[in-house]
Amino acid sequence: MADAAILALNAGSSSVKFTLFAREGDAPRAICRGEIEDVGGAGRLHVKDAAGATLTDVAAADPMRDPDGALSALLDWTDRHLGSSTLACVGHRIVHGGRDFTAPVRIDATVMSALEALCPLAPLHQPHNLAGVRAVERARPGLPQTASFDTAFHAGHAPTVARFALPRRYEAEGVRRYGFHGISYDYLSHRLAALDPALAKGRVIAAHLGNGASLCALANGKSVDTTMGFSALDGLVMGTRCGAVDPGVLLYLQDHDGLDSKGVSDLLYKQSGLLGVSGLSADVRDLLASDKPEAKEALDLFAFRAARETAALTATLAGLDGLIFSAGIGENAAAVRAAICERLSWLGLTLDPTLNAKGGEARISTPDSRVAVWIVPTDEEAIIVRDALALLG
Ligand code: ADP
Repeated sequence: MADAAILALNAGSSSVKFTLFAREGDAPRAICRGEIEDVGGAGRLHVKDAAGATLTDVAAADPMRDPDGALSALLDWTDRHLGSSTLACVGHRIVHGGRDFTAPVRIDATVMSALEALCPLAPLHQPHNLAGVRAVERARPGLPQTASFDTAFHAGHAPTVARFALPRRYEAEGVRRYGFHGISYDYLSHRLAALDPALAKGRVIAAHLGNGASLCALANGKSVDTTMGFSALDGLVMGTRCGAVDPGVLLYLQDHDGLDSKGVSDLLYKQSGLLGVSGLSADVRDLLASDKPEAKEALDLFAFRAARETAALTATLAGLDGLIFSAGIGENAAAVRAAICERLSWLGLTLDPTLNAKGGEARISTPDSRVAVWIVPTDEEAIIVRDALALLG
């Protein structure tokens, strides 16, 4: 596969994020990263090179009504950009692998039907991920495609960690805690092993704090517990998702508020979290800039719940040696990192305020802090391309 390129794709409900890699020897090198926005609407493609300079920022010539239009436009752009090099494979982020897909796979018709069957377990993500696979197949029939799963990194959880206290027949049906953001945690675990090998062998909690947010407890680099469960709703307060709520609230919403399952789903996935509590915005930047008390209350709740869940995972790990912040909020919001760490100071964790304010990939705790705190920018596409190369051989 000399001189070949690999496209790592993350196809969501209204956007497709991607990174194009050149394979050089055994090591892939990111050539450019980009996004197609407003899929289903006007459509806009923007791409930046590895140094962050804009290569393309254009409105689509025709409306991108569906993923087929978006992926076809992206693959055409990719071909033009690659010139004499050829696209050897598309690697996809697939949110749910269920119980069976505990490692990356090459996608074929049998795999696709098994993944389709998992759509009810991740209705807001899985159908869009799979629509991306089908769109690539239609645009480039026969082009190899691979899947990396957000659930797979958590597949080794002990039964006690994965089990709900429900009648056992539900567990047999697949109602159990799976965990998500595993591609990001896979990257963070490997990256920490390069940055601080001794710490990576210890008890570490990684915090992927983006629009979706979760924590993962890592023991010697392996996931042993996480805050998301059966769905990507559980655990922390998120941009528009509620995180853990008393299941009695769901009964109340149906019995007394007359919400059907679509109404409950919209409420929990799209109207809750930072947006619901602040009544203002799901974006931490807006909340930090606001002087409304509700904005501060939403940020306080976010930090409180993140600290509380960190303490819960510390119990799973029987102690804590390190904490990693990552994703949009974790990498960029120094004030949120400080608020979470302040609530964890009883663990002997002390941030260096100057290093925290500076940011970047760095250790940001004081030298005498009993828990080392790091910022590590995540790179899910690096894992998707690693998996694709391993599968293609
Ligand atoms: P996802 O990939 O889950 O869509 P990201 O990891 O890109 O999300 O995180 C997006 C969120 O990160 C934004 O909604 C915002 O709350 C937060 N964010 C991004 N940049 C900043 C910043 N400079 N300061 C504070 N928060 C930020």
